[in-house]
Amino acid sequence: MMNKSQLQVEAIHNGTVIDHIPAGQGIKILQLFGLAQTHEKITVGLNLPSKALGAKDIIKVENTRLSAAQANQLALFAPQATVNLIEDFEVVEKLQLQLPEKVEGVFSCPNSNCISHNEPVTSKFRVRAVDGQVRFRCRYCEKSFHRDMMAV
Ligand SMILES: [Zn+2]
Repeated sequence: MMNKSQLQVEAIHNGTVIDHIPAGQGIKILQLFGLAQTHEKITVGLNLPSKALGAKDIIKVENTRLSAAQANQLALFAPQATVNLIEDFEVVEKLQLQLPEKVEGVFSCPNSNCISHNEPVTSKFRVRAVDGQVRFRCRYCEKSFHRDMMAV
């Protein structure tokens, strides 16, 4: 008999496993990386039991390697996430997450009066962690936003 509680997530052959995502951030991360638009097989687990987090989300993407830059963007939403690159069912690399200093061209500015909405410019935000909270400061309107306000 197989122990189902140990098999929350089925193994993948080749690809990337993003684990220990705080529950609720998994969907946002899928949007952020445009993962759902690829044609690769993606398995998403939401609200799985986790000793460390209470509840967690997990994303597995087949035949896709998350780049170091993508892993850093991931750190914005899931600083404690683990990213394992899988080849032939084995973990061949664990990516370290580092908060990026800036994010360009990913989010649009939450300030509807920001000139970045009317000009053909790339959105640019400085990223800072203040008391453990990630803040985004728009390069154009200079306003600062909590990460929950950021939309892709
Ligand atoms: Zn702005």
